[in-house]
Amino acid sequence: MARFFQIISDDGSPIDAHFGIESDEVVFHSRGGTKGKGAINSEYALGLSVLLVRLKRASFAVERVWVDSSRVQGIPISQRTILTSEESQIPADQIVKVLSTRMKAVGRSSSEFSGGNSTRRIRMKISGGDAQALSLALGGTPVDKNLRSLDRLPAEVLRKVTAEYIWRAVQDLISGVDSPGFGESTDYDLIVDEHLRLPPKAVFGLAATRALGFQILPKYFTAGLNSVCFDLLEDAGFRIVPKGNEVVEPVLPILQEDRVWAEGRPKLVAHLRRERAPGLSCAKKAEFKRVYGRLYCERCKMDPVEIYGAENGEACIEVHHRAVQVVQMGAEHLTILEDLQCLCASCHRVTHRELKSFR
Ligand SMILES: [Zn+2]
Ligand SMILES: [Zn+2]
Repeated sequence: MARFFQIISDDGSPIDAHFGIESDEVVFHSRGGTKGKGAINSEYALGLSVLLVRLKRASFAVERVWVDSSRVQGIPISQRTILTSEESQIPADQIVKVLSTRMKAVGRSSSEFSGGNSTRRIRMKISGGDAQALSLALGGTPVDKNLRSLDRLPAEVLRKVTAEYIWRAVQDLISGVDSPGFGESTDYDLIVDEHLRLPPKAVFGLAATRALGFQILPKYFTAGLNSVCFDLLEDAGFRIVPKGNEVVEPVLPILQEDRVWAEGRPKLVAHLRRERAPGLSCAKKAEFKRVYGRLYCERCKMDPVEIYGAENGEACIEVHHRAVQVVQMGAEHLTILEDLQCLCASCHRVTHRELKSFR
């Protein structure tokens, strides 16, 4: 049973640093939040030094220290060990220096994270007594706080999960790929089409695992109304509805003008519906921007941001499914982003009219 404490200095004043005890291991939590607003563990180094002094005073021995952040869980412990038992004989303040230098290097190559703070959650294996003796020696005030909240990834990290990753995750879940660790949804559904709904948290978990490059577990982010996860899923073009909620309006609206144009030509209707599939346009635009650095019309090369500005310009770029001529495309056919073109609204209109003879 994990316990969670705030460190109290020898003169009785609280230090902004927290640790947990799990049998013979001490987990020391990293700094989080930004200075001032929502900062947590801002006195990381001081807290760590106080802990190490108390361990030594009570004749506990540090057997091993390793980086334990969620983002490096995939790396073997031997490769994220930052202190061995032989090294733990040196004075506490020197240990803190050694640890902070070494922790920065762990997992650096395997993650895209830059900036922010460089402290890590670390875990120390201690010998010389059980959990109760440890907590007596270390002191500290038990904190009534959900430990899991410290596992949560900050919003700026979650925002690396672009519409492209979300759309690919939806495609994979449709194809039967698993989102490991994520179960069925209890409260909400993400609408794929009239017949298919997916658990929103599982979609985001799979997308985030790919986007961030390490295994994302359910405890790393929250789902629900006003969560970053739901915001990003909706920004990616997907609707999320409470479970059991009937979707009344059509999921794939087709403009009146297009409806008239496509009338009596089922393949054109299918083309329009395919292009308007939830999430598809957002995903293609995100991919296009990732590859080319900006959005522009692939036919007339018009750059809408140059003309209309960053805020609204991108709205006039639409996605066109160029594989429309491939008539064997059935209803079960999964769209791939490579089959799509980014066109300005005018070029898209013209391209469709050129398909007029296509039945
Ligand atoms: Zn154009
Ligand atoms: Zn089109």
